[in-house]
Amino acid sequence: MRLVLLGPPGAGKGTQAQALAARWGIPQVASGDLLRAAVHEDSELGREAVGYMDRGQLVPDKLVLKMIAERLRKKDARDGFILDGFPRNVMQAEALAAGLERAGRKLDKVVAVMLPDEEVVKRISGRRTCRNCAAMYHVIFEPPAKAGVCDKCGEELYQREDDAEETVRERIKVYHATTRPLLDHYRRLGLLAQVDGEGRIDEVEKRILAAVTGDHDYD
Ligand code: ADP
Ligand code: ADP
Ligand code: ZN
Repeated sequence: MRLVLLGPPGAGKGTQAQALAARWGIPQVASGDLLRAAVHEDSELGREAVGYMDRGQLVPDKLVLKMIAERLRKKDARDGFILDGFPRNVMQAEALAAGLERAGRKLDKVVAVMLPDEEVVKRISGRRTCRNCAAMYHVIFEPPAKAGVCDKCGEELYQREDDAEETVRERIKVYHATTRPLLDHYRRLGLLAQVDGEGRIDEVEKRILAAVTGDHDYD
């Protein structure tokens, strides 16, 4: 399975990608996680990307494309992957398609997880992430057993710097202007399925599974 998850920030892409990756035994390739790791390591990529990320803007395509190409060349992604957060614009989508084609491969499906802007803000403002294992929580919707501590590994939970309200507004703007047009792009290619991102995590997962296997388009 070669799947792309699209959707606004906070729609639940990461949450769903983690569940599907575990279910199918293929890696979740999350561009935001890879970029945050680069920032944390203070690599050249991280130093170039951090300013854009802090402002809620997209990191330049050239940097992101190189990073994703390297990640998809790894052995674990040979027979499938779930892309989460990439592509973010049409240029990235075209580069991805070209890269896959050179390897004699193609995407199987693109699932857009839809969520209204007001819900996006609620989800992001309560998001907490594990520093150690990247498990995701929400202070109200998906709280850990003990506040501030990861259920899975016991490490500390933190709030992403770019989840501050001002930056979230900018990210929503960037989504509508730049990423949203990708839905039309993939619809024209016959790859798109849209699913409603509201409701419980397991309900959304069922919708995604139905969309991937059953070809529904919930437009
Ligand atoms: P979210 O989970 O809220 O959608 P991400 O973790 O995917 O956010 O992305 C965080 C930030 O990393 C983005 O605001 C952007 O600066 C950068 N980023 C992530 N993926 C991409 C991409 N494909 N192209 C450009 N920038 C990206
Ligand atoms: P994205 O990767 O699209 O930015 P996340 O998966 O990080 O989104 O989810 C954003 C926040 O919303 C997290 O705090 C997560 O725990 C929470 N969340 C995800 N899915 C749901 C859901 N179906 N209902 C309520 N909260 C959710
Ligand atoms: Zn953890």
